[in-house]
Amino acid sequence: MNSCSPDVPPSRCLPATEPSIAEAAAVLRSGGLVAFPTETVYGLGADGLNPEAVARIYTAKGRPSNNPLILHVADIDGARALVASWPPEAQVLAERFWPGPLTMVLAAAPHIPEIVRAGNPTVALRCPAHPVALALIRATGRPLAAPSANRSQGISPSRAEHVVKSLGSRVDLVLDGGPTKAGVESTILDLSRRPFRVLRPGPLAPSLLEALVGPIEVWSGAVADGTVQAAPGMASRHYAPKAHLELLPRPSLLARSQEGGNRVVLVTFGTPLPGSGGGEQRLLPGNAEGAMAALYALLHDLDAAGVDRILMEIPPDGEAWMALRDRLRRAAAKA
Ligand code: AMP
Ligand code: MG
Repeated sequence: MNSCSPDVPPSRCLPATEPSIAEAAAVLRSGGLVAFPTETVYGLGADGLNPEAVARIYTAKGRPSNNPLILHVADIDGARALVASWPPEAQVLAERFWPGPLTMVLAAAPHIPEIVRAGNPTVALRCPAHPVALALIRATGRPLAAPSANRSQGISPSRAEHVVKSLGSRVDLVLDGGPTKAGVESTILDLSRRPFRVLRPGPLAPSLLEALVGPIEVWSGAVADGTVQAAPGMASRHYAPKAHLELLPRPSLLARSQEGGNRVVLVTFGTPLPGSGGGEQRLLPGNAEGAMAALYALLHDLDAAGVDRILMEIPPDGEAWMALRDRLRRAAAKA
């Protein structure tokens, strides 16, 4: 059975309902893999306390073993059971932003499998704001390790059919909960060191976190202009479409699109380019929230359409656009 897309390899894909969530929980408890919606992107879940199940995530994604996973919990108590210490700032942030797109890195409790942590003494925790994700975690009765449900380095899935296309029969069951809302992956904040540090920008801007817990550093690899610094778990090339993606200032888009005979698509934010000469153009919303929500679906569409080159306007400056700039820089990085 395959309700998400008729023309792809047979992974089972069911609309998320009470019975299918119960079935998914049984798959997870017996060590299988289930893809499920969160408010950011679809996750590829496994029982986070079962090292063999977690190993299957790495195999299915083709993910390097030095890239640790996030454990997803249903509430603050679920998180506290997984850490060696729960600082007051974690409590404040969790009360304000959970369930939501905030991942906190904290000192790990001794029973967290090494494979989840990729050998680090810390563990990354998040409580997702999606009723299907929360119901699944509760029904399974375990924290769920769940990176984005796509092959490593590919575009993250914002719809169930993206998961089926990318992972096919590598996943035992896909729960279809419709398109995801926030569109890009969670903000990751490392609270295991001082000052606290944003490791990955996401839907929650650093200033929102700073307002509650004081000054926060943003890791330079997450904000650098131009070339991206590589670090474990934050590979420079990531989120990449098959098409060659180039980021350009708006005024040079048209000129560049005239070069080369391949199929080229221009992408701008907010307003189209006037007089594009009939060239193919796509538009992303002019506000950061809307653009984040639409980005991955656009990249999936352009790949499916067989586009060779994507020439995209460099996103605006400013904190609200930080996560989008980060993802696009990585998507544009050379293989
Ligand atoms: P993904 O699940 O693909 O969104 O990636 C999860 C990301 O969380 C990794 O790439 C790391 O950057 C980060 N992460 C997970 N666990 C840890 C940890 N223990 N310490 C630092 N970063 C972590
Ligand atoms: Mg990912």
